[in-house]
Amino acid sequence: MSKTCPHCGAEINDEAVRCYACQKWLTPEAEQADKPAGFLETLLFAWFLGGFGIHRFYTGNIATGAAQLLTLGGCGIWSYIDFILICFNKFKDGKGRPLRDYNQNTGITIFVISLIPLGLILFLLFILGLATALAGANS
Ligand SMILES: [Zn+2]
Repeated sequence: MSKTCPHCGAEINDEAVRCYACQKWLTPEAEQADKPAGFLETLLFAWFLGGFGIHRFYTGNIATGAAQLLTLGGCGIWSYIDFILICFNKFKDGKGRPLRDYNQNTGITIFVISLIPLGLILFLLFILGLATALAGANS
């Protein structure tokens, strides 16, 4: 038994869910299941669980996800770089595709918000350094 592909007309097996000739999905369900991971979910995974590489597992980057899990996201640096890449739509899924439903405003907003804790830490270090310097000058 065989049928023809609605996309390219190639003769394909009746049970096939994907055309071998044009690589297109033959049912909406199969196509839906193959879509790249969503931008917002991946961004949230990267922010809250990035140190465990969860955003990489979620997007099908299994090997690098495992590497992040073992290194705690490259001590947080690698996973934070991923987070920035996701914010600016430079992050790719396991098949090299950009994430689905990217929104630039959301990406930039969340990136700026992510800088706040970093800014606070730098500010505290600055105050601490200043206090130490002043204490040193007084003694
Ligand atoms: Zn086809």
